[in-house]
Amino acid sequence: MDNALYYLSIREASQLLRRREISSVELTRAVLERVRQVEPAIQAYNAVTEEVALEQARRADQRLASEDAGPLTGIPMQIKDNMCTKGIATTCSSRMLESFVPVYDATVTRRLSDAGAVLVGKGNMDEFAMGSSTENSALRKTHNPWDTTRVPGGSSGGPAAAVAAGECLFALGSDTGGSIRQPAALCGIVGLKPTYGLVSRFGLVAFASSLDQIGPMTRTVEDCALVLNAIAGHDPLDSTSIPHQVPDYTSALRADLRGVRLGVPREYFGEGIDPQVEATIQQAIARMEELGATIVRDVSLPHTRHALAVYYIIAPSECSANLARYDGVKYGYSHAEAGSMWEAMEKTRQHGFGPEVKRRIMLGTYALSAGYYDAYYLKAQKVRTIITREFQDAFQRVDTLVTPTSPTVAFRLGEKTEDPVQMYMSDICTIPVNIAGLPGIAVPCGFLDGLPVGMQIIGKHLGEETLLRVAYAYQQSTDWHQQHPPLV
Ligand code: GLN
Repeated sequence: MDNALYYLSIREASQLLRRREISSVELTRAVLERVRQVEPAIQAYNAVTEEVALEQARRADQRLASEDAGPLTGIPMQIKDNMCTKGIATTCSSRMLESFVPVYDATVTRRLSDAGAVLVGKGNMDEFAMGSSTENSALRKTHNPWDTTRVPGGSSGGPAAAVAAGECLFALGSDTGGSIRQPAALCGIVGLKPTYGLVSRFGLVAFASSLDQIGPMTRTVEDCALVLNAIAGHDPLDSTSIPHQVPDYTSALRADLRGVRLGVPREYFGEGIDPQVEATIQQAIARMEELGATIVRDVSLPHTRHALAVYYIIAPSECSANLARYDGVKYGYSHAEAGSMWEAMEKTRQHGFGPEVKRRIMLGTYALSAGYYDAYYLKAQKVRTIITREFQDAFQRVDTLVTPTSPTVAFRLGEKTEDPVQMYMSDICTIPVNIAGLPGIAVPCGFLDGLPVGMQIIGKHLGEETLLRVAYAYQQSTDWHQQHPPLV
């Protein structure tokens, strides 16, 4: 089973495809069969686009026969259900958008289809990407492939579970406060949140626009670099997109860490972090030292403890503005039985949004209202600047920082649904990275009682090459990523 086609890395599959030892149609059928086999237990997909996939696979095979193929040509993927796919429903796992079919592709969707990737379907998520367990999806509950009584993390729980279970070779997630990295860690895969502005957000349904970023979810670091190559780069359709000359991210990958300074920020260890998770991260740090890295242990980022509070002002504020567009008039759900325009709008939002989304809209509306704006929103923006500067100072001394990704391993379904603040704590290690707009990657670094643990490596602004180099060198010296969940 472990040498099944659906568990090939992108690199391996692409070599077989280019040597014509397998066809994309064959690979895609193997993945679709895997989806049929495990989906009843995992539920990672909101929609499986079988016909589109087989058609794209056929076209990929034609390209592979000519010279015009790249490393993603013919590779089956899943896209999180908040990125627009022309002609294919994009629901955000919300009743509000259940019937929304975009008339255009997100830039990432277009770039991947131009690269010849094959769309297997759309990934389940927390409604509008608000959550850390995918339990806020209005459509289904995704289960962690390593233990189906547990959550896959969130909000990109569908993509993370799909990659871990062999239901695609890679996926795209989005990360506003940890939604790529935390589920990647909980499902034992690699997840990268790029520097804010490196990947276009055009066609990504907005949650908190100053924090949202799209990134790859893969089984290996090398695959992560390959996907980043395809999606990164300036896009005139996104005004926050950085006009940056994108390198070939695979060319920075090497097996050792000589000359690399790794900082271990003390605020990310100790209180709030499961001691066994911490011990696992410390072992990974020791391994990186053996690989030649210099470990710098007296790094401090004291304002980290305010990051969660800052996030829960800024993210809801932006969300309350972004989600004002769902009024039942232009698109999406519309409540039919209403006497007046105002009543129609009220009922549409009452029935279209789930409880977490409503909580965020109310928090944000409150924080932005006259009389509270200065005390909450403005203050949060000031602390945001302090947190950003602290990272900049730390990066004067080190090349990357190493921390846990999630304070615990995957928790049980239902364990935190009654307590939003407990749920919010899942992201204490990942949120500061979004606040500062920096790149961060989650890499598998061990197991506790059969459940994966992921470390987080944080890089400088546009420091993806170093980040991937560190993650790659570590991964090459371990075999965590070669283990697969105990499914059928
Ligand atoms: N869990 C965080 C939240 O609920 C982050 C979500 C995300 O990154 N999209 O907002």
